[in-house]
Amino acid sequence: MYGKPLESIEFVSKFDPVVAEMMDREFARQKDGIELIASENFASPAVIAAMGSVLTNKYAEGLPGKRYYGGCQFVDELESLCIERAKSLFGAEAANVQPHSGAQANMAVELAILKPGDTLMGMSLANGGHLTHGSPANMSGKYYHVVSYDVNHETGLIDYDQIRDLAKKNQPKLIIAGASAYPRAIDFKAFADIAHEVGAVFMVDMAHIAGLVAGGAHMSPVPYADIVTTTTHKTLRGPRGGLILCKEEYAKKINSAVFPGIQGGPLEHIIAAKAVCFKEAASDEFKTYAHNIVKNAKAMAQGLLEEGFNLVTGGTDNHLMLADLRPMGITGIELQTRLDANHITLNKNAIPGDPESPSVTSGVRVGTAAVTTRGMGEEEMRRIAKCIGATARDFEGTAAEVKAVVADICEKFPLYK
Ligand SMILES: *Cc1c(COP(=O)(O)O)cnc(C)c1O
Repeated sequence: MYGKPLESIEFVSKFDPVVAEMMDREFARQKDGIELIASENFASPAVIAAMGSVLTNKYAEGLPGKRYYGGCQFVDELESLCIERAKSLFGAEAANVQPHSGAQANMAVELAILKPGDTLMGMSLANGGHLTHGSPANMSGKYYHVVSYDVNHETGLIDYDQIRDLAKKNQPKLIIAGASAYPRAIDFKAFADIAHEVGAVFMVDMAHIAGLVAGGAHMSPVPYADIVTTTTHKTLRGPRGGLILCKEEYAKKINSAVFPGIQGGPLEHIIAAKAVCFKEAASDEFKTYAHNIVKNAKAMAQGLLEEGFNLVTGGTDNHLMLADLRPMGITGIELQTRLDANHITLNKNAIPGDPESPSVTSGVRVGTAAVTTRGMGEEEMRRIAKCIGATARDFEGTAAEVKAVVADICEKFPLYK
């Protein structure tokens, strides 16, 4: 009925009904709700099937042709194919497909380029950066000297002149561009110019926008950055994992930072799924998908503005937007909790200069990658924006109506149909 993802739950249930029942409830939550978490997506049945395969049985520490175990001839072919597909998809000189996650990819780059105490520049977490870009709570903030840059708190935009000044003053060894909650296109060339002016290595973390880059809906960082990291499970719509692309001159250092630097055996079943994902992402259908994500985000942004929300930067160029809830008199955590009860999932998110604490926040982040995968279009985005507005203004009075709209949309656009 729902293809492979449901079949695998049925199969598990024959041996372990307790686990299968938990998996099934999560599957029901996914198919009966509207998923607006900007970092989430629905992987294809082929990607999911590759992950749930016998390749998980194989140890393959090292790289294709240079392993520390016997019996690697077939995973060598597979990992080599995956590397070639990654390079060709993004036009990169070299690729490492082994990082278990985006955080691991970033940790490996930092280990490869920096010594403890060296200066690293990244966007602050509170302004849309990622923990691994130098947050004090993360290893990157504990082992390195971090200089964070903010966005302009008035406009919500990256201020390249401010970043240039900070870079000149602090002479970082590594500059990181890329974000988890930035709704506008990033000018990677402007960043690269700054990095070259101060002699820093320039890394782009394109975790959120990798699918848009692959589909030609966002400027590619690959020609400008020395090193590019990403996750494979956000807009790229592959398995949960990480990827590093780099110029040939950094390949050796990056490879040894991943293994033996921070990881042991690679997950060859996930690497198989990454290879499937890269094939999918090279297709014309995926180009259309990437452009539809952006079209849907613009429709959602327009809908939210009409409902009375403020949007940081006034709108979006990519797959996400940040709604500033202060005009609605509600906090991020309140709206997230209310929407959850109505089967619309998103996350609270700090807005630039947020007066509320990170556990409360004045904003929510809204993304369109997952709903676009289900085939929803601009009309559905406008209906969903109305539901969000109604939930913010009058939760109790509109809950039944909102839930009915959610159920109607989910039925029209089934998951894994
Ligand atoms: C999601 C994200 C990551 C981390 O990815 P994980 O796979 O969760 O470790 C890193 N950087 C950015 C910018 C992200 O948005």
